[in-house]
Amino acid sequence: MSVTADEIDALLPQTQCTRCGYQGCRPYAEAIARGEAEINQCPPGGSKTIAALAALLERPVLPLNPANGVEGPPLVARIDEERCIGCAKCLPPCPVDAIVGAPRHMHTVMTQICTGCELCVAPCPVDCISMVPREVPEEAPSPEMNRMRFAARNARIARRAEERAALLAARKRAAHLPQTEPLPPGGHSQSTSSPTP
Ligand code: SF4
Ligand code: SF4
Ligand code: SF4
Repeated sequence: MSVTADEIDALLPQTQCTRCGYQGCRPYAEAIARGEAEINQCPPGGSKTIAALAALLERPVLPLNPANGVEGPPLVARIDEERCIGCAKCLPPCPVDAIVGAPRHMHTVMTQICTGCELCVAPCPVDCISMVPREVPEEAPSPEMNRMRFAARNARIARRAEERAALLAARKRAAHLPQTEPLPPGGHSQSTSSPTP
């Protein structure tokens, strides 16, 4: 039976944590669809996701592969704001734009949308981000919300790239325009029209 990557992706948690060994949920779904990955590589989804994938693909249920991690309670990132130096290095890796803060200012995590992916932890040069269990696990964002926010973040990045490309193109065009002639002494440009009789 043929199952599409879309159908597989629909069963994944969409945290984009990369612990399955792929660059996110969609690439993992595609690898499963191609028959290149097993169904037991997603720690955030754990046994529930494995069971759902097994049912979809009509395969036996497997235990989570310990090489990919262990199943645990939903986590959330917390920034020790006293130690944050405002370097902003944690912003780009966040798949759902859950961290807010300006360069050289303290950063903070919007816990309601944090997927618990842990991708912000390693880039922090002062180790001030820790992962802690959610106080109310039921408040972890749903896969649908994760998907929506990930798409919005990707759209924002694509938009910025387009704007930068347009700006660069405009600068290049401007650099190739003929230079304006220097003004004569006195500072007034000379008129090219005929004098009035
Ligand atoms: S949530 Fe699961 S499928 Fe998605 S990137 Fe993480 S490990 Fe891979
Ligand atoms: S704040 Fe950190 S742990 Fe939370 S979603 Fe963003 S990168 Fe992942
Ligand atoms: S990477 Fe660490 S120090 Fe830098 S802004 Fe983020 S939390 Fe603050």
